[in-house]
Amino acid sequence: MTTLPTVLITGASSGIGATYADRFARRGHDLVLVARDKARLDALAARLRKDNGVAVDVLQADLTAPADLAALETRLRDDARIGILINNAGMAQSGSFAAQTAAGIDRLLALNTTALTRLAAAVAPRFVQSGTGAIVNIGSVVGFAPELGMSIYGATKAFVLFLSQGLNLELSPKGVYVQAVLPAATRTEIWERAGIDINVLPEVMEVSELVDAALVGFDRRELVTIPPLQVAERWDALDAARQGLMSDVRQAHAAERYQQAA
Ligand code: NAP
Repeated sequence: MTTLPTVLITGASSGIGATYADRFARRGHDLVLVARDKARLDALAARLRKDNGVAVDVLQADLTAPADLAALETRLRDDARIGILINNAGMAQSGSFAAQTAAGIDRLLALNTTALTRLAAAVAPRFVQSGTGAIVNIGSVVGFAPELGMSIYGATKAFVLFLSQGLNLELSPKGVYVQAVLPAATRTEIWERAGIDINVLPEVMEVSELVDAALVGFDRRELVTIPPLQVAERWDALDAARQGLMSDVRQAHAAERYQQAA
């Protein structure tokens, strides 16, 4: 019998991360749960051990704190049982761009982009060496939509999609699976934490539906899984348009429209 890989989930104390933890435990995977709120992680871990008979480790970490991030990188590098990384921890933006503080911008970028990238980079060499493993990065459809007015948050999520596409090209030939999951509005605490009343949103997906759909994409080994996107061809068309645009980029000369005096 082959042993199932251990799954390390960041942001496992609530919402999407806690639901991933529940689903992977039901599938029989051992878990490493990461977040700041240790009491919540301990309570979830106890329930998952009892209900599913799996081993669950709890790691308290603030992923915006350099020492905590470094400790988690070490765990990912050294613990060969960990075969799946769910890069889920993230926060939304409160307020408009002009209302941001330097500290707030730093925290948002540190959590949504720096920590996610560093954790993927910590585990990738081991996965490449073993020719197996999966990295799941949680992005957002907000990364497609500057119109939504969450410019920094959306930019971090556009980063997550781009990074996942790049990692897929680099790592999938080595046997490592990379998935970007792009939810739209989902009923979790992220809204309240950002000071947004979820009840003002016209439509919201339940978190169980979101994660179950994301896992359908995971099992199919999809690169980009957008559970709320009803017409899959929309994504294919967008990606094809991007590649078409690149085919019309010529490096040596500016386009004709820029070679005339105004
Ligand atoms: P959530 O319920 O607020 O969960 C966020 C998780 O991240 C919590 O477990 C939180 O735990 C953890 N976290 C926050 N700051 C952290 C830090 N500094 N260090 C370590 N852990 C930290 O929100 P969610 O909706 O499930 O969010 C999960 C992911 O989904 C995020 O990347 C988010 O951007 C993405 N997403 C959500 C939606 C949505 O509508 N809900 C839509 C698109 C994308 P602690 O507070 O215990 O640290």
